[in-house]
Amino acid sequence: MDKSLKHECGVFGVFGHKEASNLTYLGLHALQHRGQESAGIAVVDERTMRVHRQMGYVADIFDATILDALVGSSAIGHVRYSTAGGSVLKNAQPFTVETRRGNLAVAHNGNLVNAERLRQDLEDKGDLFYTNADTEVIAHVLARHKKGSLEERVGRVMRRIKGAYSFVMLAGEKLIAARDPQGYRPLVLGRLGDAYIISSETCALSLIGAKFEREIEPGEVVCISDEGVTSSFPLGKTKKEKVQQCIFELIYFARPDSHIFDRSVYAIRKQFGVRLAQESNVPDADCVIPVPDSGVVAAMGFAETAQIPYEMGLIRNHYVGRTFIEPTQQIRHFGVRLKLNPVEELISGRSIIVVDDSIVRATTSRKIVSMLRAAGAKEVHMRISAPPILWPCYYGIDTPERSQLIASSHSVQEICEYIEADSLAFLSQEGMMETAQGTTGGFCDACFTGNYFIPPDEITAPAEVSLYEN
Ligand code: SF4
Repeated sequence: MDKSLKHECGVFGVFGHKEASNLTYLGLHALQHRGQESAGIAVVDERTMRVHRQMGYVADIFDATILDALVGSSAIGHVRYSTAGGSVLKNAQPFTVETRRGNLAVAHNGNLVNAERLRQDLEDKGDLFYTNADTEVIAHVLARHKKGSLEERVGRVMRRIKGAYSFVMLAGEKLIAARDPQGYRPLVLGRLGDAYIISSETCALSLIGAKFEREIEPGEVVCISDEGVTSSFPLGKTKKEKVQQCIFELIYFARPDSHIFDRSVYAIRKQFGVRLAQESNVPDADCVIPVPDSGVVAAMGFAETAQIPYEMGLIRNHYVGRTFIEPTQQIRHFGVRLKLNPVEELISGRSIIVVDDSIVRATTSRKIVSMLRAAGAKEVHMRISAPPILWPCYYGIDTPERSQLIASSHSVQEICEYIEADSLAFLSQEGMMETAQGTTGGFCDACFTGNYFIPPDEITAPAEVSLYEN
């Protein structure tokens, strides 16, 4: 994929372990794919809260001295890509706030569609905002609710906020985890000995040797304290048909070694490739190659089904930083070769099926086809293990404007001509939905269909009134 779609964020939490900050550090490593702009950890030791946040990769932010200073048996952590709010340190999470009931830390994954309206309303009531991140809105709404237990107050917050969120919150002696009623973003509960772990994905549980217990359900609030774990559904349990798990987590965002939405991401991704081969094989092709890493698993499913040899015909350089600057104007145009390079002996004179997971602007696909032709490919057939992306996401994935999504204004044939492939085919909408269907409910597929569960006009509707207790 041409990386025009960005992961949103990842959250992690530990309750009841003397190495809470070290475990969180490791957990954030495993979730680094969900956000690379900033990371942070907040810990609580009795009632003292400490936090460290910085721009950059997890490995560059924390060292032994910083982690040693983050003393406490409960921690939450966050990796961030800025879908809402700018890419600046003040927006890094966890976000901490002092309230009359003590300190509070929140880390949030997703996008509140009514954050702006809530913020304006709160500002009208005199609240001052330090950041422009959604997470601060959650903290302010919580601070406005003064009565009841923390869980009850979180439930009241969930009645106010709208959109996609999975968040972890540290307050006093409690760790709270909550998932929005539609369950857009994944969130799981694990155990490590007597300690409890919360994570966006199970790959982070595996890294620290924690056991997967279960997913936090859509609309559920889990409260972990010395008394154990309690669960509540402040807005009621969500009917399965109203669950809107983000199908793009399965196509691309989540790590293939994770289990989310009650599925192995690897197995589903491979099945997308199987279905794609059933729908649009090229029987006479010589080999199937993935665009690494995003197309690797689907390409395996495609090759097995098509009974065409699978080859790693493109090699990815994993060591190109996100901020690589080409050294001089004279020797530019490395283009995609900086990240991908063809293995000529596998390509030259052969008919190639190239499998990737999506096309956004199509600029990278065009470069890949051109690179394969320069390496001597006889034919290049592009296969995409998802339907064409036609609409932007309002639920926490950073997508370009609709005008930048090539499939919104071009037919498959026109895109094929633009990328100069011999043929191009996408997985069908039915193929994707039938492959993904499972036990935990429905899926959001709005970026493919424009069927937004929370409609865009509601997202920009005027502010509601009387939202808060005083
Ligand atoms: S619009 Fe697409 S990317 Fe956004 S939540 Fe829905 S499926 Fe996921």
